Amino acid sequence: MKNLAQSEWLAKQPLLEQVMEKKEILWRNPLVEPIKTALNHTKLSKEDVEDARLRLARFAPYLERVFPDTAANQGIIESPLTPIPNMKHVLEQSYAIDIPGQLLLKQDNALPISGSIKARGGIYEVLKHAETLAIEHQLLNAEEDYSQFDEPAFRQLFANHKIAVGSTGNLGLSIGIMSAKLGFDVTVHMSADAKPWKKDLLRSKGVHVVEYEDDYSKAVEEGRRQAEADPTCHFVDDENSTDLFMGYAVAGERVAVQLKEQNIRVDGEHPLFVYLPCGVGGGPGGVAFGLKLAFGDHVHCLFAEPTHSPCMMIGMMTGLHDQISVADFGLDNKTAADGLAVGTASAFVGKTVEPFLAGCYTVEDRTLFKLLKELADSEDIWLEPSALAGMTGPIQTIQSDISSANSPKATHLVWSTGGNMVLEEEMKSYYEQAKK
Ligand SMILES: *Cc1c(COP(=O)(O)O)cnc(C)c1O
Repeated sequence: MKNLAQSEWLAKQPLLEQVMEKKEILWRNPLVEPIKTALNHTKLSKEDVEDARLRLARFAPYLERVFPDTAANQGIIESPLTPIPNMKHVLEQSYAIDIPGQLLLKQDNALPISGSIKARGGIYEVLKHAETLAIEHQLLNAEEDYSQFDEPAFRQLFANHKIAVGSTGNLGLSIGIMSAKLGFDVTVHMSADAKPWKKDLLRSKGVHVVEYEDDYSKAVEEGRRQAEADPTCHFVDDENSTDLFMGYAVAGERVAVQLKEQNIRVDGEHPLFVYLPCGVGGGPGGVAFGLKLAFGDHVHCLFAEPTHSPCMMIGMMTGLHDQISVADFGLDNKTAADGLAVGTASAFVGKTVEPFLAGCYTVEDRTLFKLLKELADSEDIWLEPSALAGMTGPIQTIQSDISSANSPKATHLVWSTGGNMVLEEEMKSYYEQAKK
């Protein structure tokens, strides 16, 4: 551990004691700033997000052609924003607390192509890389119809290029499915905790899957090392990629449109609280950045992490980001929440969101399973365990009296991050586990 011993950190940040005890807690970020000054700390801007939005719009005719499940939305990969009043009632009952505002679920579990939040950033980065190569090889200019990406000349070009990624599962699905569809030679380096069905699915689509006995960081490190040795290989770097981040950030403006369509106001009097499950940080970080650009000081974003893997909370609390890990506080990084079993956060994301984020909170695995069953029973919406980490957000912010979380004019938006790709039998076993 850099600079200080564990006991010194505990003296400086007493909340770390509860982190070590694996309690469900909320940490407020003391470095959060008004949007006007917060934006001065980063090179990333509204223009970058707009560039990403336009690129996704150019690719929409292609996506509509090759992925029929995107046709209903004309090739734009987007998910429903759903009021969940029955679940709100369940939460109020089980925590004996009033949630005066309204409760919405942003259903990235239902995103087309790969059924998780990774269908935003992961697919965006692959498309951007494909576009760059196509322009470099003079196959098209940016004004042309992108549905040609499905034609043989493009597929031949991509067959000579490699894409690689390290993943616990869902990022691998997004990168693998999209890259294989374009014709790339794609390899997914998978950690030991990745589900066998995810590996099988990828192999069935022609993706090379390399398995590791170690955790996520090891798979990423090994993938990066192999990719660096090969100039034709593009490595999707979950810890440092601004492309991934921008793909996620496009969600901010899209949510603003959806809220407007549902006549839900967000302004000085009507705050918006958004709860985002966090692994390495890119997904929730990018979405939070986009939301901040869309709503400024009227939106409060919080990251949710398992009690066994609160890497972003620890990284931000100590200011050490990727120079400290959950193991430094005696935590084992073991959780059933796929995608959230990350011991060390991305420093790029941690530093970028430092002036934007309201805070982080933790949630126990057994809470995730309980919520999974309750949401299925009350709303007939089926999520994977990690996707429920956001659901205790309203409880946490109201109990901790964060801003005006308990206002009847507040909107609480829980970001559901995955679910639709999970096999039915797997989902049933999650549900059965919750009964115990
Ligand atoms: C990847 C993932 C997250 C978190 O995204 P990060 O970019 O790793 O922080 C949350 N939920 C699910 C289901 C995921 O797959």
